[in-house]
Amino acid sequence: TVRVRFAPSPTGPLHAGGVRTALYNYLFARQTGGQMLLRIEDTDQARYVPGAEDYILEALAWLGISIDEGPNVGGPHAPYRQSERKEMYREYAEKLVFEGKAYYAFDTPEELDAMRKRLEEAKVPAAQYNAITRLQMTNSLTLPIAETKKRLESGEPYVIRMQVQPKDDIRFNDLIRGWVVVHSSQIDDKVLLKSDGMPTYHLANIVDDHLMGITHVIRGEEWLPSAPMHVLLYRYLGWEATMPQFAHLPLLLKPDGNGKLSKRDADLGGFPIFPLQWTDPKTGEIAKGFREEGYYPEATTNFLALLGWNAGTEQEIFSMQALIDAFSFERVHKSGAKFDIQKAMWFNQQYLKEKDDLTMAAQVQPLFAKKGIEISDEQAIQIVHLLKDRVHFVHEIVDESAFLFSAPESYDQEIVAKKWNEDAQRGISAFAEGLAAYDGEFVAENIKHVLAGTLETAGIKMGKIMQALRLAVTGSGTGPDLMVTMEILGKEEVVRRLRRAVE
Ligand code: GLU
Repeated sequence: TVRVRFAPSPTGPLHAGGVRTALYNYLFARQTGGQMLLRIEDTDQARYVPGAEDYILEALAWLGISIDEGPNVGGPHAPYRQSERKEMYREYAEKLVFEGKAYYAFDTPEELDAMRKRLEEAKVPAAQYNAITRLQMTNSLTLPIAETKKRLESGEPYVIRMQVQPKDDIRFNDLIRGWVVVHSSQIDDKVLLKSDGMPTYHLANIVDDHLMGITHVIRGEEWLPSAPMHVLLYRYLGWEATMPQFAHLPLLLKPDGNGKLSKRDADLGGFPIFPLQWTDPKTGEIAKGFREEGYYPEATTNFLALLGWNAGTEQEIFSMQALIDAFSFERVHKSGAKFDIQKAMWFNQQYLKEKDDLTMAAQVQPLFAKKGIEISDEQAIQIVHLLKDRVHFVHEIVDESAFLFSAPESYDQEIVAKKWNEDAQRGISAFAEGLAAYDGEFVAENIKHVLAGTLETAGIKMGKIMQALRLAVTGSGTGPDLMVTMEILGKEEVVRRLRRAVE
């Protein structure tokens, strides 16, 4: 069966790209009846950020991405936090040393620096610690065994490096990119075990994917350059036969398509790129989240799923189940996907339109209350109904309905200039008095009747004065259904506003 993993490093909040990676893993696991693991890759203690793991769990839960095995739910391969698996990695690194596929290296940071300089001076392009340059380096590899032993025994700090063989082609078939072939001269003798005894990402990742029975590694394109080295590690460890398949997902690009999306983009553009709000524990800086901005989780996942994938049809609205059914690697794009926040808003609007008025009314009531406006259930439903087609977010209903709670203090001068003519004033005045005298039920349909009647008597065409009428009632030339607006305002308030406008 398919087993996939989402393996974030707890170095901060998940961003849109990370969420999409989790989502594609989830879709593939659910589609195939497989399992989805969460593994926390926290071997880099210097970059560990407190709160990040909880954030990741909360974000996945909010988005509806459920996990079958992980630090929060346990599972047969626990622990799922790499720092708690520390002891397991060393044996593999040492096994590779024993087999001549890795070696102890004692280079000090100063020596590595000097080495880099020498390589630069010799104009070695893209200086690497590898087979070609190794001989110009401090030569840990060629230390006599006795010397290595002596240094280890004396407690000298060391790392274990993988020994990449020259003149080798490493190839693998990526589910999205097809065949990838890299020559071994392009690959560093990467550190596998650090001087603090912790594995590097590379070692821990391969060991865990193997031990946890991962069948597919689905991750961001930024890991593509590491993949050949990972393939080599599978080979060295004798695990090639069960090596997972790789799928490297296209980058998320800035809204203008220029370069990779980064946290700075959120700050500049004022739009969220994190699922939930994140407070930086060091600076106290707050970054916006989709949740707090009023996005629905299903709109967020729909939006993110379509950044880099499409169904090959015109369809854009996909429930989670529909995504699970339709997802395929063949339709994941190779090129980067622009992060278009307008599109995210459009998605939210589509989902908002489908919500029933009652649910939304319950959501807006407390938002009004926060502004000191108490509205009845019935009013809340009326307001939601009036405005739901005009907003992207529930909270916008509060701002958009300001005109309901205070009479206009000014009138849109452009509309005044164009439409506030003598007929308009005469018609509005007649309508005001017609309404004042009317004592039937004050509902949209009846209001329209009164308006038609009074205008007919006054000999004025309704179409000619509608914008002026809206101006008188709301102060603006555009807005939602005017008859319903007046119904919500109530007779007294409407008459008052009309009279004031023609004063
Ligand atoms: N810990 C890596 C990350 O944070 C995981 C990469 C992978 O999936 O192999 O992106």
